[in-house]
Amino acid sequence: MSDSTSEIWFERAKAVLAGGVSSPVRAFKSVGGTPRVIASASGNEIRDVDGRVYLDFVNSWGPLILGHANPVVSEAICAAAKRGSSYGAPSRPEVELAELVKSLYPGIDLLRFVSSGTEAVMSAVRLARGATGRDLIVKFSGCYHGHVDSLLVAAGSGLVTFGEPSSAGVPAQLSALSRVLQLNDERALQELCEREGSHIAAVIIEPIPANNGLLLQRPEYLLALRKICDRHGIVLIFDEVISGFRVAAGGAAEIYGITPDLVTFGKVIGGGLPVGAFGGRRDLMEQLSPLGRVYQAGTLSGNPVAMSAGLATLRTLIAEQGWQRLAELGAHFQALVKPILGSRASAHTLVREQSIFWMALFSDRAPRTDVEINNEASGYYAALFHEMLERGIALAPSAFEVGFLSLAHSESDISRFAATLGESLDAVDRKARS
Ligand code: PMP
Repeated sequence: MSDSTSEIWFERAKAVLAGGVSSPVRAFKSVGGTPRVIASASGNEIRDVDGRVYLDFVNSWGPLILGHANPVVSEAICAAAKRGSSYGAPSRPEVELAELVKSLYPGIDLLRFVSSGTEAVMSAVRLARGATGRDLIVKFSGCYHGHVDSLLVAAGSGLVTFGEPSSAGVPAQLSALSRVLQLNDERALQELCEREGSHIAAVIIEPIPANNGLLLQRPEYLLALRKICDRHGIVLIFDEVISGFRVAAGGAAEIYGITPDLVTFGKVIGGGLPVGAFGGRRDLMEQLSPLGRVYQAGTLSGNPVAMSAGLATLRTLIAEQGWQRLAELGAHFQALVKPILGSRASAHTLVREQSIFWMALFSDRAPRTDVEINNEASGYYAALFHEMLERGIALAPSAFEVGFLSLAHSESDISRFAATLGESLDAVDRKARS
């Protein structure tokens, strides 16, 4: 790739953007090499500035459940933009999107829109603290909830990619208000609550943890969290920024049959534009300003163009029975890919929930906690990632990030993925031997 147009652009990027990027994992730090600078994307493909085309399984890290530049979404964006890009006042698309979200997801009485998943989580945590008058927050090791100060403790995503469990710049007094537990261990929460339950405002979890690999939880474990929170008057927050509107219309709450007190959304809800949301029980949501004393606001919140993209995305998913189709595609993906991973000398495992997938390298079964992930995975993944990229398949540039199927993928795309994966694993193993 020497002197490729991507390299030239990335040099320019590094001169003006910290690390050359607007979000850290994009920089390829953990896989090495130069990120491809993207010129355009359509359907199942992205194209870099050198004109190379990749079959894309990143889908902008999850939002693009219909694929890139879906025509219905693009039209909705253009039409909305022509009506004005922002009003700073209530508008029809935010009401319609809120009505639709409320009708799809269990237990939402009221919602509020924000502009990112981080903002949704930050606001939900403040609301839980304001409503309960308590300060402590419980999170789980390996779950990532955006770069909210008090939740950047033992987080996954970019932090684990760079081998840093926590961030500099978070005052010790703030992280002292967070309690971090291992996933898959209901007794740990029970014991914590027996000691400190009356000081705990919220328990926040990704019910389908997808930021440190894909750490699928036992349904009984999630149910136990619900019961413990009820017993101690603690607000249970499901962070469904990844899983919301991706695994089912009603997210993980629908799949597990468990309703949280508050839920946070991002990614799919904005159809590729910057949208987040949080919502839930009326008595909690009514504590929000202007109804209540918990302050929360945003100049561009409920932005009409972004709301229109989200509406077009959700309406298309419903009209095309998208979740059913994605479940079928996911099952097909698993049928082809799992045997390829399992058949290697050092067995690897495919972990999947609907259209979210992750390759657990050097693991013969799906891990449920971050501590079970094999340390060898990262270096091996870096080599595999580049073999796949060279063969025209884009995966996330980190061993700990999941992949996403979209409605723009076909069965033949999945066959191509499987064949390319087999070739790439062969190439990595061959190079390791030589
Ligand atoms: N929560 C979860 C579960 C996430 O996966 C993410 C982002 N990957 C966030 C919160 C933060 O969302 P954003 O990047 O939109 O701020």
